[in-house]
Amino acid sequence: MNIHEYQGKELFKKYGVTVPRGKVADTADEAEEIAKEMGGAVVVKAQIHAGGRGKGGGVKLAKDPAEARKAASEILGMTLVTHQTGPGGRVVKKVLIEEASDIANELYLSIVLDRSSGRPTIMASTEGGMDIEEVAAKTPEKLIKIQIDPALGIWPSTARRVVYGLGLEGEQAAEGAKFVSNLYKFYDEMDCSLVEINPLVQTADGRMFALDAKVNFDDNALYRHKDVAEMRDIGEEDPLEVEASKYNLNYIKLDGEVACMVNGAGLAMATMDIIMLAGSSPANFLDVGGGANKDMVENAFRILMDDDDVKAVFINIFGGILRCDVLAEGVVEAVKTVNVNVPIVIRMEGTNVEKGRDILENSGLDFTVGNGMADSAEKVVAALKR
Ligand code: ADP
Ligand code: MG
Repeated sequence: MNIHEYQGKELFKKYGVTVPRGKVADTADEAEEIAKEMGGAVVVKAQIHAGGRGKGGGVKLAKDPAEARKAASEILGMTLVTHQTGPGGRVVKKVLIEEASDIANELYLSIVLDRSSGRPTIMASTEGGMDIEEVAAKTPEKLIKIQIDPALGIWPSTARRVVYGLGLEGEQAAEGAKFVSNLYKFYDEMDCSLVEINPLVQTADGRMFALDAKVNFDDNALYRHKDVAEMRDIGEEDPLEVEASKYNLNYIKLDGEVACMVNGAGLAMATMDIIMLAGSSPANFLDVGGGANKDMVENAFRILMDDDDVKAVFINIFGGILRCDVLAEGVVEAVKTVNVNVPIVIRMEGTNVEKGRDILENSGLDFTVGNGMADSAEKVVAALKR
């Protein structure tokens, strides 16, 4: 799960990860009030679940409350397009009003779960404010990477290695090491999968602040963090993904044209690959799961068909715990309630496959039955071309 910058910063404070003073606003009036309270120059920042807001015009400096009001009225309601939002952009509903920092130095600091080593990895760089993927690609020597053994946690010597790598010395190094340790404690105790601060700044008077905050949580641990679960902003998520999550379906919207209904994540990945191989592309990833019942199949099918990009459906099921007849019943029920005007190709194998095929054949509905994965994928693509 993702949260907004202002929510991340609220949580940071509890762990001693220092952030600039700030408050969130829904209206230009509120923004002006907050700027008055803050005194001095402020920065007005669009709150969306995507980075690159600065370049996209979603971060504006305001010298006084009147300017803050103007900036907020420009940003609130705008459709902000950044390299992370996709071409459709996101409508801004909240802005963070924050005291403007007197930036002397911009750094980069993040902690991410490295899946190949299975360990949290601290990444730091002197190239703060830049796209870190670009730094890693062009100047990898400027990226410090240190893995942490989660059983041992972060040692003071490890935190010092990070800050010395950033060129900090004396008091600054001591403060920086405390910052890194506090951030690790946050990452660990809050069950994050990513914490990224870009930029982490040093001010002219020698203080350190997280100027940005990107925080992702491990969904499987959310039950331990009710306060975090409440921060979920459904408006920032794909509506079909939200709908699918209500039925415990693993559904991810993609940008292709063939809707896939599959049981098992491995089979779903293979199905997407074979669609690509046959010359088309998947409109979604959908794993209905091993234990799906008729209702789940019905809901899954309805969600697939709610996507306007879908031009054909490929149902690829290996009947195990989910029996083929249960799947067939679910699909037939769903087709009766949903207006289906695209071709459907089904490949089924496994438990009760004959019974499943009978149900489909006797339903009076129009399906193509494929013979194996490759043949089915080719039939989907052929149907698309017609
Ligand atoms: P994004 O990464 O989405 O573009 P950031 O929060 O990193 O958003 O803000 C973009 C840039 O705006 C920062 O790199 C920094 O230069 C400037 N900025 C953001 N917040 C402040 C602040 N409180 N004071 C001064 N400058 C800021
Ligand atoms: Mg940033």
